[in-house]
Amino acid sequence: EEQGWRMLSVVRVHLPSEIPIVGCEITPYVLLRLPNGAISTEDVPETAAVDGHFMRYRWYRIQSDRKVAICSVHPMEQATIQCLGCLKSKIPAAKSYHCSAKCFSDAWQHHKVLHERASSALNENGAEEEELFGRFGSGSSGILSSGSGSMSNLGQSPGVNNGPVPLYPSGSDKSSGETWFEVGRSQTYTPTADDIGHVLRFECAAVDTEKKVPAGPPTSIMTSRVIPAPTPTPRRLIQVNGDVLGHLDMDSQSSSFGTFTVLSYNILADAYATSDAYSYCPTWALSWTYRRQNLMREIIGYHADIICLQEVQLNHFEDFFAPEFDKHGYQALYKKRTTEVSLSCSLSSQIG
Ligand SMILES: [Zn+2]
Ligand SMILES: [Zn+2]
Repeated sequence: EEQGWRMLSVVRVHLPSEIPIVGCEITPYVLLRLPNGAISTEDVPETAAVDGHFMRYRWYRIQSDRKVAICSVHPMEQATIQCLGCLKSKIPAAKSYHCSAKCFSDAWQHHKVLHERASSALNENGAEEEELFGRFGSGSSGILSSGSGSMSNLGQSPGVNNGPVPLYPSGSDKSSGETWFEVGRSQTYTPTADDIGHVLRFECAAVDTEKKVPAGPPTSIMTSRVIPAPTPTPRRLIQVNGDVLGHLDMDSQSSSFGTFTVLSYNILADAYATSDAYSYCPTWALSWTYRRQNLMREIIGYHADIICLQEVQLNHFEDFFAPEFDKHGYQALYKKRTTEVSLSCSLSSQIG
C-alpha cells in the first residue's frame, strides 16, 4: 500500500504563540506534503484540491465543568483572589482575578486605570460603558463582544471572521466533564470573550473531495487558556519643550493653522521581535497580531499630521498598515530601504 505518502498529508502543525488572546488572530503553521512529495505551507482549499483531496480545519473551545479562574496578570497561574472594586464597577470578571495578594498589589498602579475608566464611562452614560468593556460571558459562541477597553478604538478592524459555526456543543465527554464547542472552520481563528479561560483545540485533516470525509485521523494541537487582551500601561512622555508636546497629545484633534505635527515611531519589525532578543517578554506579547493592534491604537491616538514609521515589513504595510491608515484618513507611502535588509520606512500623511 503506497497510498500513504502519495496523498495530501499533514507533516507538522505548530502555533505561533502558546497563549491565545481575545481579538488577536491565530494562524497555526501547517506543513503539508503534496502528492508529488513536495513540502508546502500553502493552503489546499476545496476549490483547488490536489489529487482529490483538500484541507479541512476545525477550531473547538473545550469547556470544562470545573470552572477555573485564571490570574489576569499571570495567564499560567490559577486565581486565588478577586478584586471587589472590579465587580462593583462591572469590569469583566476575567480582569478582576489575581493569583496572590502580592500579584494584586504589584499590579495596582496599572489595574486602577480600569476602575477609573469604568467610573468615567458610567458617568457619561450606560451605553458607553457597554462599548468600553464589552459583555463578558453572556454572548453566544462565535459572536465577538469587545473583550476589553483596549480593543474599543480599533473595533473589529483586524477583520474578525471566524465563519458561521453551530451554536450547540459538538461533543462532550462525561468522564472528564469536558464539552467541545465548534468555534471556527478556517485555518485562522480570532478568540472571542466567550473563549476566556478555556483551552482551544485546532484540528486539520486532508478530506476526500468525493466522500467529504477525512482520509485519516486529524492532526491536532491544543492552546493554553485564552486570556483577555491586557490593557497596556499608558506611556509617560518626557517633556522636551512645553510648546512641542502641546501640539502632540491625545486630546488635540488638529494642529493650529500654519503648523503641523510629525510623529516618528520605530515599530520593531516582527523579524526582530524574537524570544532570543526579548527573553523577558512572553511570546504572546511578541506576536505580530497582538503587537500590531496596540501599535495602531497608540500611533493613531497621537493625531499627528505626518506619521513616519521605521522597521516596516512590506507584507505588514500592504496587509495591515496601508488599509488601517486609510480608514483613519491617512495616505500611506512605502519607501524600501536601500540596503539588502528588507525592512523599510513608511510615511503616512493625513489628507482632508
Ligand atoms: Zn479591580
Ligand atoms: Zn498573578
